[in-house]
Amino acid sequence: MYNRVALIGLGLIASSLFWAMKRGGLAGEVTGYARSQATRDTARRIGLCDEVCDSVAEAVTGADLVILCVPVGAMGAVAAEMAPHLAPGATVTDVGSVKQEVIAAVGPHLPKSVHFVPGHPLAGTEHSGPESGFAELFENRWCLLVPVADSDPDAVARLRGLWEAMGANVEEMEPDHHDLVLAVTSHAPHLIAYTMVGVADDLRRVTDSEVIQYSAAGFRDFTRIAASDPTMWRDVFLTNKEATLEILGRFTEELFALQRAIRTGDGDHLHDYFTRTRAIRRSIVEAGQDTDAPDFGRGAKR
Ligand code: NAP
Repeated sequence: MYNRVALIGLGLIASSLFWAMKRGGLAGEVTGYARSQATRDTARRIGLCDEVCDSVAEAVTGADLVILCVPVGAMGAVAAEMAPHLAPGATVTDVGSVKQEVIAAVGPHLPKSVHFVPGHPLAGTEHSGPESGFAELFENRWCLLVPVADSDPDAVARLRGLWEAMGANVEEMEPDHHDLVLAVTSHAPHLIAYTMVGVADDLRRVTDSEVIQYSAAGFRDFTRIAASDPTMWRDVFLTNKEATLEILGRFTEELFALQRAIRTGDGDHLHDYFTRTRAIRRSIVEAGQDTDAPDFGRGAKR
């Protein structure tokens, strides 16, 4: 679907893109660049990319699709570095978890002769680095495309085709709406998980190792989310400030209401609230976005 694709950053998302494109025969050639020698060496060792380059310039030269797969806070600097080497008519996209700030950071560096079509696959794991990717990551997951005002419709359609060929469902969204939706569904939940695990870690000093030993009762699921990459998540919160703070404000209000219900023994409030949240879980399973197997399918491995 593209002759030469350049992956800038070679972590979880880029490596998954490479394996998915290879599996589907979707790109003639894939080049890759990562800033550290260690990551480039690993990529060469495991056959990640047809060619691993030692500079951004080399990686993007002649590419008809460039995909920025670095942390959100690094996108602007990478865009500035690659801009003079982009081929006219190329499409530049990204996979960043925040859209308004990425558009503001990347857009101004790009020459008029290239098409900018920002994107965000709603797929990931708590693992990072070049060895963590796998071809199936995007299957039956959403990929949101967030075209800018002058995005070329043909370039958008072609990129949509690539994501669909990798198994994703594609939807277009406005950047501010994207950032609010993601603050609710991903960013605030991550912050809450980080907090819960931090609180438990403080407690662990009092209760010795019991927090770890008896972690199956819910805490374990928070620890999985809270194991996510610190750099990526630092950048997400610093760049999606407004929407995250808005959602956290609402969260705090609801938390206080539940706290009051517990103190005053208002069982009806708690029961009604938990009934409502249970229905949301059911809708997620019905939408095919999670398994309804007990304990997230962990079964006997407990
Ligand atoms: P990752 O596995 O941590 O890989 C990040 C890559 O970016 C590495 O190759 C790293 O190079 C490079 N990099 C880091 N800082 C850089 C800098 N300052 N300048 C240049 N390169 C830099 O990350 P990932 O999970 O693939 O995430 C990549 C992007 O996808 C992020 O924007 C993230 O928001 C987005 N995203 C992530 C997920 C998820 O669940 N992980 C889901 C959807 C979207 P070195 O290895 O050489 O340090």
